[in-house]
Amino acid sequence: MRRDFVANVSHEIRTPLTVLSGFVETLQTIPLDESERKKYLDLMAVQASRMQSLVADLLTLSQLEGSLPPGMSERVSVKELMTQVASDALALSAVLGGHDAEQNEVVHDIVFDPAPAWVILGGRSELFSAMSNLVSNAVRYTPAGGSISVSVDPGADGSLCIDVRDTGAGIAAEHLPRLTERFYRVDRSRSRESGGTGLGLAIVKHVMQRHGGSLSITSELGHGSCFRLTFPANRWHINH
Ligand code: ADP
Repeated sequence: MRRDFVANVSHEIRTPLTVLSGFVETLQTIPLDESERKKYLDLMAVQASRMQSLVADLLTLSQLEGSLPPGMSERVSVKELMTQVASDALALSAVLGGHDAEQNEVVHDIVFDPAPAWVILGGRSELFSAMSNLVSNAVRYTPAGGSISVSVDPGADGSLCIDVRDTGAGIAAEHLPRLTERFYRVDRSRSRESGGTGLGLAIVKHVMQRHGGSLSITSELGHGSCFRLTFPANRWHINH
């Protein structure tokens, strides 16, 4: 498994690196006018940011693997979690729709339930990372005009469930068991085009395991998906 992982990482880095060095060579050897130069530099920036995302996700994974699970002393407000992730989702939707993030021209219908004053006991940055991975996937895999909704509900057994739903592409049943494997993607080019690393769901699964919880996925091809985070009863409470 370790050998496979190293091979996969090398492959993932090699592709943007090859493209990037090809463009460097072009800029060094061919005289270009200003607009062509800009075009190449923009393409180079995309490849550089692909490598940055990949390295950032790899570091997140290695931190998750190399540290003790979060204790019970840190209190993470569900409302705060939702507010931060909602604003990231709106910005991403605008960017994917070809708009400036600041202009707020959102191309999806994004609805976050108002979260009551609940608190999760766990690691703040990893919970943010798990939620933002799910919400950015929902935005990235849902065509413009589709909707994304996030809700939080206590389960019958005392657990707390956070559902991220979308009306996007959906996922065929045969892929579901493999989605949390590192670098497993249903559609490689779609993942790449929208800035994916193939590591997001592996990170989410890891974060949930560290909190004694779980990630469950239901989906229907062509209709959309639901990604559910379930936290056990001892990991959350109502903030009095
Ligand atoms: P990526 O960076 O490629 O999005 P992830 O680990 O986050 O990697 O997800 C793995 C794969 O699962 C994606 O490449 C995509 O094929 C599929 N996937 C994840 N979320 C969704 C979603 N909301 N709708 C449809 N497919 C999804």
